[in-house]
Amino acid sequence: MSQSPSDATNAVFARAQIYSDGGSAPRRVDLRLGDTLQIFEEGAFRAGWALADIRRVSSATGALRIRALTAPPQAWCEISDPAFAAAIEQRCRLLAGDRQEKREARWRIAALATTGVVVIAALVWFVIPALADRLAPLVPASVEKQIGAAADTQARARFKGGACVSPAGEAALARLVDRLKLLAGVPLDVQVGVIASPVQNAFALPGGRVYLLRGLIESAQSPDELAGVLAHEFGHVAHRDSLRAALREGGAALTIGVVTGGAFGAGAISAAARASLSAAYSREAETEADDFAARVMNKAGRPARALGDILKRIAADERSTPLDFLRDHPLTNERQDRLENESTKASGEPLMSAGDWLALRAICNR
Ligand SMILES: [Zn+2]
Repeated sequence: MSQSPSDATNAVFARAQIYSDGGSAPRRVDLRLGDTLQIFEEGAFRAGWALADIRRVSSATGALRIRALTAPPQAWCEISDPAFAAAIEQRCRLLAGDRQEKREARWRIAALATTGVVVIAALVWFVIPALADRLAPLVPASVEKQIGAAADTQARARFKGGACVSPAGEAALARLVDRLKLLAGVPLDVQVGVIASPVQNAFALPGGRVYLLRGLIESAQSPDELAGVLAHEFGHVAHRDSLRAALREGGAALTIGVVTGGAFGAGAISAAARASLSAAYSREAETEADDFAARVMNKAGRPARALGDILKRIAADERSTPLDFLRDHPLTNERQDRLENESTKASGEPLMSAGDWLALRAICNR
């Protein structure tokens, strides 16, 4: 019989304990407790019990009486040696039986669950917000559309005034949008609308809905300025910037809810919509949207600096409110210089006919 070193060094012994094999009368045995409990009768090995199989049974004598799950049902062993009994109590973890086993299993599960909760909490609070940008592409288009629809409702409630729907104005706007989409050279799922609000603002919602507010249309001094703003917004749509900003602003729970397909239901969608309206874009997002607009304008042979011009005018306007375009798109000198540098001379046809320009400027007139 091979013995592990621990078995050899840790073994304890007891002489003249009482053993019954379940068939014959109880007799005196010697016990050795190592990796197993070994029972010897007059020096001969009689039985070996695995420690995990040993259970306590009640005894009238007050001594520790044990049995083994793998031994014959009536077999038992009674230990009157206190030191040996203590060693049995210490080494046979399941001495008290299944109830103890279940209790220990419950503790193990609780410990595992705690570890899991800690890991998830760490993910939620530290990792996922940092990943919002990378997770945005994982959001299904259908979920982004739902967020956009909720944001649309919230935006309309915020910018009271209703949609501007003069047929001539809408037709003129549709022609401009179609030209810009063609020039963009990438598939753009955008729907552009106008709201009769005096605020000088334009914004893109998740899912591709873009709004021009009446105040911004009135500030525009040329089709190029308006086209520059629209092309800038289309850049945000192409990069899903509104969704990215919402995920960053809305935090981890929102990101998990949205990335998992809105599994957390309407609450996550609505929260994402709110976040998309309050979140500001990153500086990188603004630069990329400017570059996108500059590419579109250059392709049309129209000056990209027109976008910088209208932004500068709005920035200088005392009527600007915190809700304005510039909160989402703060104009820095760097941005303006960049637009200037990327601008070409006007060599192409105007983006709008004179008639369309007038019709668009009157789109909110009833
Ligand atoms: Zn922007």
